[in-house]
Amino acid sequence: MPRFIVVSGGVISGVGKGVTVSSIAKILQEYGFSVTAIKIDPYINYDAGTLRPTEHGEVWVTYDGGEIDQDLGNYERFLNIDIPKKNNITTGQVYKKVIDDERAGKYLGKTVQFIPHIPDEIKKRIKDASDGYDFCIIEIGGTIGDYENIPFLFAVKSLEREIGKENIIYILITYLPVPSHIEEMKTKPTQQAIRMLGENGIFADFIICRAKKEMDKVRKEKIERYANIKSDHVVSEPDIDTIYRIPLDLEKDKLGLKILNEFKVIPKKNPNWIEWEKLVDNIANNGKKITIAMVCKYIDIGEYELKDSYVSVNQAIQHACANLGVSAEIKWIDSKKFEQDESRLNELKNYNGIIVPGGFGSSGVEGKIKAIEFARKNNIPFLGLCYGMQLAIVEFARNVCNMKDANTTEVDEKTKYPVINILESQKEFINDKKYGGTMRLGAYAAVLDEKSKVFSLYEQSGRLNEDSDRIDKIKKQKEQLFRIGIADENKKIIIERHRHRYEVNPDFTKQIQDKGLLFSGYHLRADKTKLMEFIELPKHKFFVATQSHPEFNSSLNKPSPLFYGFIKSCIK
Ligand code: GLN
Repeated sequence: MPRFIVVSGGVISGVGKGVTVSSIAKILQEYGFSVTAIKIDPYINYDAGTLRPTEHGEVWVTYDGGEIDQDLGNYERFLNIDIPKKNNITTGQVYKKVIDDERAGKYLGKTVQFIPHIPDEIKKRIKDASDGYDFCIIEIGGTIGDYENIPFLFAVKSLEREIGKENIIYILITYLPVPSHIEEMKTKPTQQAIRMLGENGIFADFIICRAKKEMDKVRKEKIERYANIKSDHVVSEPDIDTIYRIPLDLEKDKLGLKILNEFKVIPKKNPNWIEWEKLVDNIANNGKKITIAMVCKYIDIGEYELKDSYVSVNQAIQHACANLGVSAEIKWIDSKKFEQDESRLNELKNYNGIIVPGGFGSSGVEGKIKAIEFARKNNIPFLGLCYGMQLAIVEFARNVCNMKDANTTEVDEKTKYPVINILESQKEFINDKKYGGTMRLGAYAAVLDEKSKVFSLYEQSGRLNEDSDRIDKIKKQKEQLFRIGIADENKKIIIERHRHRYEVNPDFTKQIQDKGLLFSGYHLRADKTKLMEFIELPKHKFFVATQSHPEFNSSLNKPSPLFYGFIKSCIK
């Protein structure tokens, strides 16, 4: 049976609970344990698939096709493991299952009630997701005191009763504000969070205090007394330069050993942070800096910018940079600006590279197409992700293949040249308005053209061999193999994750290829037709795009091969 670490948040959301959870998990992994993490999202949505990115940040896609809160992405980036969709539990999922079971008569005539049926379903899901690991960290989303947290707090308390307090510890991650008019760090909101947690019968074993700066002794003592815990269990976690430094900082405080000690567990090995530390220092490095223009649209929320809509792309850029010894400054540019004033395209000359990330719908599309044309004509390194690839094809069709007004049918259903068209399998979903969880989602295999740039990038990174091994493992789980699809016999494959409804229209691939755009990889469908997954312009400095989301397969010690290649050519 795994041991559990339950993490809840106090005071405000958005203080970096997810990255702290990831850091603790990473530390335990370094001590030789197998670790997984569960994210609990107390909202009624079944998953994050239908949530607006500007409200909730990016939607993370798991290998098995889940559309999840972005925290699962952090867990994967720190732990370097594939985390399945069952590691995300929402109120919607729990209630739906209980009600479905009731309708199916599975409760045998009993009254179905909040207690015990809801917490029981939550516990069942926690046990299923944590099975086989040494440790499982459960992050409860939101903030202590939210009404919607109650069933989950009740469930973990009930889990504690079942497995014994020696197998479960509680961590409260809180925030100490420093109001600007008094410039003093305040502990009162934290005291209230401690009290509210106590009202649920939960007493924190550790309190991690997030703040702008290091917490001093006076405040630490205040919290320690108020919570009645050991003084070295109150840990200060001030703002720092990069999230990847958090495990190193927490380890300076010996948090890993303290947690193991609380469980009375001996480390399986000594941590080795040398490689990690080197990469972290590279991120913070003051050496060469490159600038990247991200031409996108999900950035404005009221008066503020929300870069979280592209968190995995931002991270994948950082991973590649850290491994190449440079740092990147990313500028998020609303593509609509190029529609309003074409001369602003010239600003793109000031960047070392241009990324057009994923997106949906028609707004901002023409601006993105213009930016892609600019990158192509001016030999500026370009990376297109999902919609970014589809629009690169639209641009090429219009401006090189003379297909006037070529488009994706997502934007113009009646175009004479539908170079991007809806996947056959998607038509019914759209007609029936079945939007949730119905896209082409999760990991799929692709075969690469051995003469392509994309192939050599995957080969050099080792991913070509690794992904083939991964497939062998997945083959043992039949339903997963069915999802990922078949590859050509005897050919090595790579796997990337997907989230889309449209595809390159096979009716136009020959015409486009004849004009010099290389389709460098494809997915072979069960009916033996090919779905284009990668494109590139062989004569360009770097012009590569993919139907997939390689940003969901990148971590600090294993950067995505496409991002690595892109950043490398940005440096040149
Ligand atoms: N809107 C496009 C599609 O559905 C691209 C999606 C994306 O960029 N994730 O195919």
